Amino acid sequence: MDPDILIIGGGPAGLSTALHLQRMDPILASRVLILEKARYPRSKLCAGALVVDAEVLLERLGLDVREVPHVDADNIQFDFEGSGLNFRMWKRHTLRIIRRDEFDNWLAIKAKSRGLEIIEGITVKNIIPDDGAVKVETDKGTYCAQVVVGADGSNGITRRCIFPNATVYTARLLEVLTPAYSRSSTGTSPNLNRHIAGREQVAYFDFFPVPNNIAGYVWDFPTQVGGESMRCWGIYDTNLLSNQDRPQLKEPLAEEMERLGFQLGDYELKGHPIRWFSPRNQMSVPRVLLVGDAAGADPLLGEGISMALGYGSLAAREIAESFQQNDFSFNRYRRRVVRSALGRSLLVRWVITHIIYFLKWKWFQILLWRFLKPALTFIAKRFVLNWGRHL
Ligand SMILES: Cc1cc2nc3c(=O)[nH]c(=O)nc-3n(C[C@H](O)[C@H](O)[C@H](O)COP(=O)(O)OP(=O)(O)OC[C@H]3O[C@@H](n4cnc5c(N)ncnc54)[C@H](O)[C@@H]3O)c2cc1C
Repeated sequence: MDPDILIIGGGPAGLSTALHLQRMDPILASRVLILEKARYPRSKLCAGALVVDAEVLLERLGLDVREVPHVDADNIQFDFEGSGLNFRMWKRHTLRIIRRDEFDNWLAIKAKSRGLEIIEGITVKNIIPDDGAVKVETDKGTYCAQVVVGADGSNGITRRCIFPNATVYTARLLEVLTPAYSRSSTGTSPNLNRHIAGREQVAYFDFFPVPNNIAGYVWDFPTQVGGESMRCWGIYDTNLLSNQDRPQLKEPLAEEMERLGFQLGDYELKGHPIRWFSPRNQMSVPRVLLVGDAAGADPLLGEGISMALGYGSLAAREIAESFQQNDFSFNRYRRRVVRSALGRSLLVRWVITHIIYFLKWKWFQILLWRFLKPALTFIAKRFVLNWGRHL
């Protein structure tokens, strides 16, 4: 039988939409079907850092993320060329770092245990919205739904079908996993030991590539794979300076890894884009709405898991109201997102992104990361983080 609500993609955004609907209106949720092209546990390129808002939203759904294997980073270091400011949350870990195969699988198991239906191994090929319903063509047949939620990520088919000509703001990312510092392939030297001392539980962001027109940073996080301590490294570039001369994206990553005793060439390097939020992004057409990366993630740091969970809450409210009012135009959805606590955080991040990456001079970056700690900490805690409890 055709579902009333078809969710395309079973990542955090799709699963969160379904779980929030289930909490708000269990009868409506019994008419939800999630289509996921992969099979859990499926791999997803991601550093897996959860900020406080992701945990707040999961708690509100009655979910305890501590059930998922994780590593806690007590604090975050925002650096420019190896020194800068230290940021920590009060009386709690600052980041909780999970692996996405484990986290998404756990979330899917929770959704299934609450009666939500997920079909795995099915790929959506085309979406055709119509006045009366939406036709969704897959590699395993065609569905007809009252409402479709595009939760299919940065490269998703939903957005491409409903907004074929829209401008897309996309960041490029590379990621690599290595053993922990103590097992670095280069061995140890007094100089190296000095660099890595005290770094094990800290998540690092270094903005040194910005003056070279890479509008982003290199990261180095603690993580675990199968219970074994590892480091997750990567580079993020919003592409805001793509009209300027830039080095190859892997060059700054290789440079930073070498400084800390690792050779990039010894490890498998993977890349994936992130579609980021802009106030200009369109988010719905009648009967179809977008959530998560499909709608737009954080442009500043490329954080998207908490956002995906947050979009799920907003979309569920929008859908529940649309069925109550029998109005599937979704013409208020974008305003709902932008005016929400999530939208305000995304908007602040979008503004900051356009300041810190365009003012790319070395002296400005040094001033920012080494001397403006009180101002940045205030902005981060007041305007960037802590939106989840107000959603
Ligand atoms: C290298 C990298 C590092 C990152 N690090 C972090 C981090 O540390 N912290 C953080 O918060 N965010 C991080 N992000 C961003 C984060 O991964 C995303 O924002 C997040 O995954 C968005 O969730 P989503 O549910 O919208 O999309 P996704 O997680 O991409 O899920 C989309 C789902 O849709 C399915 N799908 C796609 N197409 C179809 C189709 N045609 N038919 C059916 N199913 C389909 C996919 O298989 C997938 O399961 C990182 C991203 C990258 C690329």
